[in-house]
Amino acid sequence: MEKKFAIFGDVHANLEALIAVTNDASKREVTDYICVGDVVGYNASPSECIQVVRDLGCVTVRGNHDHYCSHDENLDDFQPLAASVIAWTRRQLSDEDVIWLKNLPLRKAISGFTIVHSTLDMPDHWGYVFDSLSAEAHFNYQMTTLCFYGHTHVPMVYEKNAGIRRFDPYNIKLTTGTKYFINVGSVGQPRDGNPDSSYAIYTPSTREVEFVRVSYDIQTSMEKNIQAGLPERLAHRLAQGK
Ligand code: ZN
Repeated sequence: MEKKFAIFGDVHANLEALIAVTNDASKREVTDYICVGDVVGYNASPSECIQVVRDLGCVTVRGNHDHYCSHDENLDDFQPLAASVIAWTRRQLSDEDVIWLKNLPLRKAISGFTIVHSTLDMPDHWGYVFDSLSAEAHFNYQMTTLCFYGHTHVPMVYEKNAGIRRFDPYNIKLTTGTKYFINVGSVGQPRDGNPDSSYAIYTPSTREVEFVRVSYDIQTSMEKNIQAGLPERLAHRLAQGK
């Protein structure tokens, strides 16, 4: 069967959003699921989301939240709200969940493309690519035409040919001689002002990448967060999409 990849990430333990995305992708007859990391952190359903991702047989790379939730390292680099949820998440995970998160690779080459959570130049430094300079550092290490990433929760496209240019998400037809570094946005905590979950579909046979937004039951996610005792600010940002 012809391959069709659903590439998603930054699920952040938001089960309602993850189910909405996988339902949407299966309606579109996706053959393979790929996860660019941060399955856990911020929301109320970390173990459940790990289970869904594992059941999809999903190639997954490790995000910074996946890393810190499965390692006993200090959380000084995190904002206080994020750090409090990482501490909470550590208490929810089973030993098996922790081992799974710990063993996720930082980068992965898949047929013809690469995935990473942050950047290929220093994937364990969790840098944020928001400008051409940091995109340039990354592109020096991108050997494939296509690389998908997440981390910023803002879908966007960097293209490199003669120079580097940044674009808002658009439906791409890959051009020979251009490299693409594509942020698929976030399933479980979008931050581009649109609260709908974001992911991408890549069809190698037509050389097309399509960005998709999916609405989900935000109210239920917010209520679960509040019931779990997670910071209310994090519940409310789901409705705002930022
Ligand atoms: Zn994230």
